[in-house]
Amino acid sequence: RSGGNRVAGVRAFTRPRSCPPPQDVKYMFGIVGIPVTEIAIAAQQLGIRYVGMRNEQAACYAASAVGYLTGRPGVCLVVSGPGLVHALGGMANANMNCWPLIVIGGSSERCQETMGAFQEFPQVEACRLYSKFSVRPSSIEAIPSIIEKAVRSSIYGRPGACYIDIPADFVNLQVNVNSIKYVECCMPPPISMAETSAVQMAASVIRNAKQPLLIIGKGAAYAHAEEGIRKLVEQCKLPFLPTPMGKGVIPDNHPNCVAAARSRALQFADVIILFGARLNWILHFGLPPRYQPDVKFIQIDICAEELGNNVRPAVTLLGDINAVTKQLLEQFDKTPWQYPPESKWWNTLKEKMKSNEAASKELASKKSLPMNYYTVFYHVQEQLPRDCMVVSEGANTMDIGRTVLQNYLPRHRLDAGTFGTMGVGLGFAIAAAIVAKDRNPGQRVICVEGDSAFGFSGMEVETICRYNLPIVLLVVNNNGIYQGIDTDSWKEMLKFGDATALAPPMCLLPNAHYEQVMTAFGGNGYFVQTREELQESLRKSLADATKPSLINIMIEPQSMRKAQDFHWLTRSNM
Ligand code: ADP
Ligand code: MG
Repeated sequence: RSGGNRVAGVRAFTRPRSCPPPQDVKYMFGIVGIPVTEIAIAAQQLGIRYVGMRNEQAACYAASAVGYLTGRPGVCLVVSGPGLVHALGGMANANMNCWPLIVIGGSSERCQETMGAFQEFPQVEACRLYSKFSVRPSSIEAIPSIIEKAVRSSIYGRPGACYIDIPADFVNLQVNVNSIKYVECCMPPPISMAETSAVQMAASVIRNAKQPLLIIGKGAAYAHAEEGIRKLVEQCKLPFLPTPMGKGVIPDNHPNCVAAARSRALQFADVIILFGARLNWILHFGLPPRYQPDVKFIQIDICAEELGNNVRPAVTLLGDINAVTKQLLEQFDKTPWQYPPESKWWNTLKEKMKSNEAASKELASKKSLPMNYYTVFYHVQEQLPRDCMVVSEGANTMDIGRTVLQNYLPRHRLDAGTFGTMGVGLGFAIAAAIVAKDRNPGQRVICVEGDSAFGFSGMEVETICRYNLPIVLLVVNNNGIYQGIDTDSWKEMLKFGDATALAPPMCLLPNAHYEQVMTAFGGNGYFVQTREELQESLRKSLADATKPSLINIMIEPQSMRKAQDFHWLTRSNM
C-alpha cells in the first residue's frame, strides 16, 4: 500500500517502477493467517501464483517439487509457531532430496520475544538443521538482498532448502521507499567441470570394464543431463539402470535399460558410473553382498563432500553432470570405443530381465478377485499417456508400481524419495499440475497412492477441486499399511471386543470409500473392484480434462510383491 513516498514494509503491494524483475520465483504455496496474509496478497499482486493449501507440510512438499521440476525454487509461506513446525517436514524432505526450496515463515513480534508471545518459537534455529541457510533479515531494508541470497543458495552447489523469517511487526512497519535497495535477479548457477586428468582416467576405467553399468540418479534429472547421458549410453553401448526418480532421463523402454535385472546388474558389475546418485540406502551403500567387493565406482557429483561416502571410488568427477558428461563424450569422440553388445554380461542381464518380466506378467494375468498389485498396474500402464507425470507413494504401491509404470521423459516421476517420506503425493501432484498449466497445458498428472499414503494429506483433495486441477488420483486400497484385513475378518474381530485393543496396528478401516472424498468437493469418484471397472473408470477419468478424479481400487488385502532373490529385498529399497 503506497502512501506518498512511503510504503508499508512488506505491504509494498505495488512494485515501484524502478524495481528490476524479482528473483524469477513464480510459485508460492502456503496457508495464510497472522502474520503472513498480506505477504500472500502482495505476492499475487507481483504476479507470483499463490496456491492456498490445507496443511503446511503438503504446501512445503508442493513448493519443493516446483524446485525440482523447474530448477527455480518454489516458496512455501507459513504462519508462526505450529505453521512453521509443520513445514519442517517439507524442508527436511527437500534438503534430503537436494531440491531447491524457499520457506518464508511469519514469526512473533520482536518486542515480545522471550515473553511468551503468540506462537513464539525459535524458528531460525529450528530451521537450521533442515536447510542450507536460515536467517531473519535484520531490517526491512535488508529483505531484498536476503531473498536474493536465499534464492541463490537454494540453487548453487548442491541444491537445498533456505528459510527466511519475517517477524509480525515487519509486516506493518513503515519505511521510506527510497531506503529500499532493490537487488537484481541472481545469476544462474555457475557451471563447474571436472579435472581433465580425472576425466581421462574415468574414460580409461570405462574402456577396460568387463561388466560396466551406468546408474542414473535424480541429480542427472535435475541437471537436465538427458541428452548427453543418452548419447554416451548409445555411443558406447552401455547398460544403464535408473534410480526411482532417475527414471525417464533415458526412456524406460530403451534397449539398454536393465531395470528389470536390477539386483543382478548391481551384484556383478565391475565398473559403475554414478550420474547424480548417492551410495545411500537406495543403492545399498555400494557395499557387498549387493556389489562385488572390488567394484570400481566412478562418481560424478556437484558436491565434493559426497565423493567417497561409503566406498573408496576409483575416480571422482567433481562438477555439473551435464558438463562432465560432455567431457566424457569428448574422450570417446577422440578415441571411439564401444562395449561389445554380444558380451556374456549383456546376455546375463537380458536373460534375467526376461525371467523377471515373465514373472510379473504372470502375476498380472491372474483373474482372481480381489485384484493383486500387478494386475492393477498393468491395466493402468496400458492407458497412461506417454508424457504424463507420475506421482507415486505408498509401500508396496510405490515399489511395485515403479517396476510396471513406465517413464519416457525426464523429471516426470515424483515419489517418496531419499527420505522415504509418505504423505508427499498430493502436494507433489498439485505442484506438477500447476507447473503443467503454464508449461505444458494438456499434460496429465497421475497420482498413484497407497490407501495409507493417501491419508496423510487426503484433505488436499479440496485444494485440487478448488483450483480444478484435472489430476487423476488412484488409491490402491488394501485396507492398511503394508497389508490390511478384509471386511468379514474385521467384523469377526469386533465380536471379541474393542477395536483399539484388537486391531493389528497395520489395519485401516476395511472397504473405506475414499472416492467420496473427491465427490464431496465436486470431482469424479469411482469405486472399483474388477479389472473391467478399473479400465472403464480410468478411461473416463483420462477423457475428462475438466475435472479431477479419484479411483478407489480395492485389492487383495494380503497382496504382496513377487518373490525376491534376496530376503532383504522386502523393503522399499528395491
Ligand atoms: P537418487 O535418489 O536418484 O539416487 P540422490 O538424491 O541420492 O539421487 O543423488 C543426487 C545427487 O546429485 C546428489 O548427491 C547431488 O549433490 C547431485 N547433484 C544435483 N545436481 C547436480 C548437478 N547439476 N551436477 C552434479 N551433481 C548434481
Ligand atoms: Mg495400503
